[in-house]
Amino acid sequence: MSKKDFLRQIIDEHLEQGVYGNRVVTRFPPEPNGYLHIGHAKSIFINFGIAADYSGGICHLRMDDSDPTKESYEYVESIKRDVKWLGFDWGDKLFFASDYFEKLYEYAEFLIKKGKAYVCSLSEEEIRQYRGTVTQPGKPSPYRERTVEENLDLFRKMRAGEFKDGEHVLRAKIDMANPNMKMRDPLLYRIRHVEHYRQGNEWCIYPLYDFTHCLSDSLERITHSICTLEFENNRELYDWILEECEVEKPSPHQYEFARLNLNYAIMSKRKCLELVEKKYVNGWDDPRMPTISGLRRRGVTPEAIKNFCESIGIAKANSVVDYAQFEHYIRDDLNTKVPRVLCVLQPLKVVIENYPEGKTEMLDASYYPHDVPLTGSRPLPFSREIYIEKDDFMEDPPKGFYRLCPGGEVRLRHAYIIKCEQVIKDEKGEVVELKCTYDPSTKSGQDNSGKKVKGTIHWVSAAHAGNVEVRLYDRLFKIEMPENMDTDLNEDSLKILSNCYIEPSALKAPAGSRFQFERLGYFYLDPVEYEQGKVVFNRIVTLRDSWSKILKKQGE
Ligand code: ATP
Ligand code: MG
Repeated sequence: MSKKDFLRQIIDEHLEQGVYGNRVVTRFPPEPNGYLHIGHAKSIFINFGIAADYSGGICHLRMDDSDPTKESYEYVESIKRDVKWLGFDWGDKLFFASDYFEKLYEYAEFLIKKGKAYVCSLSEEEIRQYRGTVTQPGKPSPYRERTVEENLDLFRKMRAGEFKDGEHVLRAKIDMANPNMKMRDPLLYRIRHVEHYRQGNEWCIYPLYDFTHCLSDSLERITHSICTLEFENNRELYDWILEECEVEKPSPHQYEFARLNLNYAIMSKRKCLELVEKKYVNGWDDPRMPTISGLRRRGVTPEAIKNFCESIGIAKANSVVDYAQFEHYIRDDLNTKVPRVLCVLQPLKVVIENYPEGKTEMLDASYYPHDVPLTGSRPLPFSREIYIEKDDFMEDPPKGFYRLCPGGEVRLRHAYIIKCEQVIKDEKGEVVELKCTYDPSTKSGQDNSGKKVKGTIHWVSAAHAGNVEVRLYDRLFKIEMPENMDTDLNEDSLKILSNCYIEPSALKAPAGSRFQFERLGYFYLDPVEYEQGKVVFNRIVTLRDSWSKILKKQGE
């Protein structure tokens, strides 16, 4: 077995020493201000994964909804859907930080009464200036020495709605010279006359992240509070608040791991929202989005996401993961699971002149290659008129082109060898049809002709194939570390091919089916379009695997 990650090592130790008895309670705490992305998936696999690994382990799903400005029920529902789809069940452990507002308020008064918090009436800008810099200590707010009575009175009036936004804030009274900037009298509450999606107009003061998070963890009796590295400096404050609020012991503790960063993608809800709002993509579930809903709509499986997240491991230093590595795991998962069928994306008509008119032959075509444990086959109709891929014919081919050319021969997958006898062009000189002949003695599986051809191409029978739309996706951004939506987007990230032909067996498949289209990649029968009565296949991923080449080179 591979070595345990550092989080599980810590938990093992705690269990051994009985720090939390035999309890292991983690939480996944998204703010419902957007849809989850693949970075969140990593956090979900860590938190729910740890709970699943330990007997009696529990993982809470907590909506971290203490900022009323951008949160909504739509996002809450999308988060629940995505976590479920990834394969996790929070049971009855669904919580909302906003349910703790009253308790948090009591803790705030408790701190005021202890002389550990004060109402500050500087403006936001002044507070920033007073805070100092990493090299310079801050200076105390002129309101820092307000009496407990005055602070309590002001704070109660803040709650009662007697002040405007920004007039006062509640701050922790810690140390304006602390080398950790987070400890320089951080804000705990601010005034926001904004309706909360769950609490309505019940509140006009809202607690900030640092105050809300640790106390929510404590109220839920979380044992291990796992977050990303950006919060490393917040840990001291996390501990300070729990200590000064005199919460029940043993209190939860925070641990940080490296967030997932992927090249050619953005990993922030704010930027994803911008893509949606500016209509650079067709909504949060656009198959090009790094969101869980986008990946689902594209046809990526939860197993692939899980295997990918496991492959990166849990690190303590940030890094950027290659998108090709993600694609490798998508392919790797589908390779042994999905049937292989024939679909022509850019059709070129071929008439097989020595094949009887009106005849249809049902070929027995296996769905899987020999090296895949699954078996099964379908009848594949073959007839006089077929479509092949435009690209698979070249009038004047370069050396090494093993597909079809004038006078040349090629094998049709699962069928016969054909020979190109004549090329038909339209008035613009474009090739519109090929006249071919077939060799009846070369039927796949029964070929005793002794003929050898170098190329095999895919095809469909014209009279039997279904006309479908196929959407090909490429990376949403053209540069590795995108920043600017207006300049860094890949204009060719979506290609719609509306005149594709697919073999009939695939047309009977239910929405949400996945296939390998031979030689073209893995595809997903889009359930959303299907519901609207339209058959659309999304390309999940191509067959080209640049990542395994990289792995081979590294000798892994
Ligand atoms: P974003 O920057 O996308 O808005 P966030 O951190 O603000 O992300 P939250 O809703 O607060 O979003 O995140 C919920 C949990 O997911 C947090 O514990 C956070 O640390 C974790 N998380 C967010 N992004 C990543 C990532 N890229 N990799 C791993 N974990 C992440
Ligand atoms: Mg956050």
